Amino acid sequence: CGIFAYLNYNVNRERRYILQVLFNGLRRLEYRGYDSAGISIDDYFSVSRNPNTPQPSSINSLSSSPLVFRQEGNIESLVKSVYQEVAATELNLEESFTTHAGIAHTRWATHGVPAPRNSHPQTSGSGNDFLVVHNGVITNYEVLKETLVRHGFTFESETDTEVIPKLAKFVFDKANEEGDQTVTFSQVVLEVMRHLEGAYALIFKSRHYPNELIACKRGSPLLLGVKELNDDFCNGSAFHDAKFLSKNGNPKELFLSSDANAIIEHTKKVLVIEDGEVVHLKEGGVSILKFNNDKGRNGDSLSARPA
Ligand code: GLU
Repeated sequence: CGIFAYLNYNVNRERRYILQVLFNGLRRLEYRGYDSAGISIDDYFSVSRNPNTPQPSSINSLSSSPLVFRQEGNIESLVKSVYQEVAATELNLEESFTTHAGIAHTRWATHGVPAPRNSHPQTSGSGNDFLVVHNGVITNYEVLKETLVRHGFTFESETDTEVIPKLAKFVFDKANEEGDQTVTFSQVVLEVMRHLEGAYALIFKSRHYPNELIACKRGSPLLLGVKELNDDFCNGSAFHDAKFLSKNGNPKELFLSSDANAIIEHTKKVLVIEDGEVVHLKEGGVSILKFNNDKGRNGDSLSARPA
């Protein structure tokens, strides 16, 4: 129903602020009758965390792995449950990060009843190796699920979405088993996309690629917003220039969303992502790759988007 992500780079942001940006993003997504919501933020061995405090079951908190919060109902019930669970786990809201990548979702169930296990982010399993928020429908999820089950994956939801993070873990593990420890996040996602049929806008987050996010789309809307904090240029009106994509290093905040409403309160530099494009946010840079499946498995074309 709605997706949103926020990544700060080279600018100090407290966990409290990061949560607020994610919640406000969700509040501004167009209301289409969502039934549940969820977010994922980073943990990074919070020093203030008391290891003896028991973890509520809905917080999946292996050390340094992304934390996942999911709740049935409207956004305010998610907000309430997150603050309750944060209090119970002594997660420090004042702790700040110079880089942090968070993702968020409001769900309009197509496959599986509204329930925490069916809410997004959907995960690759315990440890949160890969997390995905998804708008749309994966039409071939049943056959993908059968294959993944044969490879030892167990599923906890009835969603079509859950095959996506599990497929990402399968691709990542396979590359590593074959000795490719340098497989990049975008290579993993491009391989996942090759198997997906249907309509989707997706945002991926991974324990293996901290401070990176990947988004891609086919048939569902997706936008990128860029706020360069030291750059007068960002005060300009509508943005038509893709040159900023190559600017690394500057402190900035990056936003991904299915809906412009969730971005324009932060920046007017908004880029509409096209079908088949893969947006990779990493170290303050934005790369946009084009997925091309026409040539089949061995003839991929991976080209940068023309400006
Ligand atoms: N098909 C997915 C699900 O049912 C995503 C639905 C949505 O776009 O909110 O979980």
